[in-house]
Amino acid sequence: MKEGFLFCVCQGTCPSFAKENAYEITNMVRKKYNVEYAAIHPQLCAEDGDRFLKNLLKGTDIDVLYVAGCDPVMQNKMFKDSFAAAGFEVKRLAGCDVRNKTTEEVEKLISDLIEKTRSEKAK
Ligand code: SF4
Repeated sequence: MKEGFLFCVCQGTCPSFAKENAYEITNMVRKKYNVEYAAIHPQLCAEDGDRFLKNLLKGTDIDVLYVAGCDPVMQNKMFKDSFAAAGFEVKRLAGCDVRNKTTEEVEKLISDLIEKTRSEKAK
């Protein structure tokens, strides 16, 4: 299974992300889970974020795209047009709400999500 990981940091100015270190968390994901790519984006729901997602996902063979950021329901709504333009099904998105948490709490949350997704896909 191929997986990608993006951390959307809400421009780096949102107080909801103040207690966590996005670099440390992203580095943990790439080292511990050997994903195809792990990257930080400033604002995936902005216009250039749409373009970024379209470019990244067009013709991709990624099975799961993890996105750490705001609420997954919001992510689904905000990314759906870019996904549709890229031919990437929304069901391949595994969003993770990482607001108002510490680095350790986010690392645990993302690890649990990746492990749960991997075990479900292995069935
Ligand atoms: S996608 Fe969510 S986390 Fe990212 S900038 Fe937009 S509101 Fe913030």
